[in-house]
Parts: sequence; structure tokens; C-alpha cells
Amino acid sequence: MGRTEKITAAIRQAAYDAGFDLAGIAPVRDFPELEYFPKWIAAGHAGEMKYMEAQSETGDFKRASLRSTVPWARSVIVCAINYNVAAPYSIEADDSQRGWISRYAWGRDDYHEAVMRLLRAVELRLRTYCDPSEKPSLQTRCYVDTGPLVERVYAKYAGVGWIGKNTCILNQKLGSWLFLGVILTSLEPEPDVPAADRCGTCTRCIDACPTNALIAPYQLDSNKCISYLTIEKRGTIPVEMREGMGRHVFGCDICQDVCPWNRRSPITSAPEFQPRNGLVNPALDWVAEMTAEQFREAFRASPVRRAKRAGLRRNAVIAMGNSRDQRFAPALEKLAVDDDTAVAEAAQWAKKNLDAGNCSSGK
Ligand code: SF4
Ligand code: SF4
Repeated sequence: MGRTEKITAAIRQAAYDAGFDLAGIAPVRDFPELEYFPKWIAAGHAGEMKYMEAQSETGDFKRASLRSTVPWARSVIVCAINYNVAAPYSIEADDSQRGWISRYAWGRDDYHEAVMRLLRAVELRLRTYCDPSEKPSLQTRCYVDTGPLVERVYAKYAGVGWIGKNTCILNQKLGSWLFLGVILTSLEPEPDVPAADRCGTCTRCIDACPTNALIAPYQLDSNKCISYLTIEKRGTIPVEMREGMGRHVFGCDICQDVCPWNRRSPITSAPEFQPRNGLVNPALDWVAEMTAEQFREAFRASPVRRAKRAGLRRNAVIAMGNSRDQRFAPALEKLAVDDDTAVAEAAQWAKKNLDAGNCSSGK
């Protein structure tokens, strides 16, 4: 085994020892998938996510060209960990008075911090393993979601998984409930073989998306995606998108839930990813009426904080309207004059929805 292969094997072992389920290495290149990124931004599909549009001094989109953004980076180590926990509830089976929080946000800890801890352990091992002559010039940088790169493209070229038609990374054995972490490095270990696309003729994710956000295979319009609308979108939500949001209050898992590759996804027992009590299917009126103190307490160190209290309350109110459950009428009456204008507007819309008929008693 040559030096570069040995480093690759040592990195992979370090990742497994740290607790990751998968690890691979991709070279830094302008991969063809990255050419799509500027077009995706230009088409407005990133919505209000301005951080996606950050540009380097050369005028390139930072995420589209790691070569110009981080010139010393030669390789990207991509690590993945399964976060699929046993689901205490199913959204279909649950009652109309409860909302849905995306699986990735159920955990006890913020996954960014949990995954970063593991990445740091891999980084340390890498530095220890390096030849003394390599150490002075060795550079590394760890990221969980915040790096200037499109992580899933590097995950594909690191052999971690293919990019599915639902735009998520899918692994043949583990499915798509994966947190990714990356380490940029100046080293050039032997890269892995890119993962082959195994979506075949399947279109389940596209067919199941309630808001038609998957506008074509492998193409997502964030403006229509429930994850974007409930987490990133500030202020009011376009009326035409509300019905499709159903009972989602934070994120959406539908296009992954229907994916056949997730049928045999293993269940993790990692304590940091186990669901917090009461936060899988929270009561909608509790979310809609929560005080700042309750929000801080309930979502301490949770990714749900990204939606902010105002966004989460707005989402819950829309879900109340979609429930057509008359038991929400008194709460919506009060919320219709809420100090937060987006919440008040959503409550007026939700109340009209209840008044419009097709109401259930929730039984
Ligand atoms: S996360 Fe939900 S809304 Fe977004 S593409 Fe998937 S199914 Fe559609
Ligand atoms: S549901 Fe089908 S098309 Fe969509 S990501 Fe899974 S395998 Fe691919």
C-alpha cells in the first residue's frame, strides 16, 4: 500500500473510531454538478437564503468553487452518521391537533455540535498520523452545514452516497437519514470512487411532494419546499403554499419517508439523536401561543431555533387552519390580533379556513 492509500485507510478508520457510519475522500474539483448551482441561484430557487449567494473575490459563487474560495484545499473528507431513531409517532396516524417537526431536529443535542465533536476527533487523528515533514504545511478546516461548498456533491464524489431525485444523499445500506460533516484538507490522500445513482425509474419522492417543490428530478425549488417555508422564510407565507404545508411546523420528511432506500434504514441508539420528550408531534395550540421563555426552554440547543419563535408560531397557526379542527377556533380568534403581524395574518387566514366548512371536531 502506497503512502496516499495508507492515509486514506487511516482517515477512514479514524472516522469509524470517532463514531461515523461512513467516510470517504473526494478531490477538490469543479465537478459538473456544481455548474448547476449558479443557474439554480439565478432562477431564484434559493428563495431568501442570501447566504447561498455569497461570492468570492473572483466573483464565483463560494459554494460552487472551492478551488477559488479555499485555494489550499486539495481534498474533502466527507463523514456521515445515521440519525434514524425509532419514530414514536407517525404523522398520518396522529391527531389533527398536533404538528410535525422534522426528524433531524428531534435530537437531544444540536446535531451541528454533536457532529462537529466527532469531526474534531478525526481531524486530531489526521494531524497525529501525518508525517512530521507534512505537519508544518498541513491545513484542515471542519464544517457542519456552514462550509463554502455544496456538501452533497462532495459526498457523492467521496463515495458516501448518490444524490437522489429528492436532492438528498442516499446510501445503499443506510438510506438518507444522514448528517454530513466535512474536513477540508491540504493533503491529497487517495480519493474514493464516486457513488453510482440507484434511483432508477423511481419517482416516488417527486410524486409525494405535497407542494411540487421537486420541479424535476434532482431539482428543488426552495420557494415551494416546506422545509424552506417553515424554517428559512421570514414574515408571511404565500397563501398558495399554505394548504400543502399540512401540519408541518418545522421542516418536512415526506420525500425521504417515501424513499424505498429508507425502508431498511437501521435505527440508531446514539443518545444525542434520541427524541426529546414532547417535541416530535407538539400540540399546535401550545406552539402557536408559546411565550419567549417557553420557546427558549423547549428548544434550548435545538436546530428548531433557526425558525425563531415568530416563524414557529406562524407555522403552527397555518397548521391549525389546515387541520379544519373547530376546537382551534377560540385560540385563532385571539391569535388574529396578535402583536406579530405574520402570526395575526396567518390566524385570520386559518380562521377563514375553519369557517369555510369541511370542519371536523377532531374525532
Ligand atoms: S422536503 Fe417536503 S416539501 Fe420539500 S421537496 Fe421534500 S417532500 Fe417536498
Ligand atoms: S424516492 Fe425514488 S427517486 Fe426519490 S430519491 Fe428515493 S429512490 Fe430516488
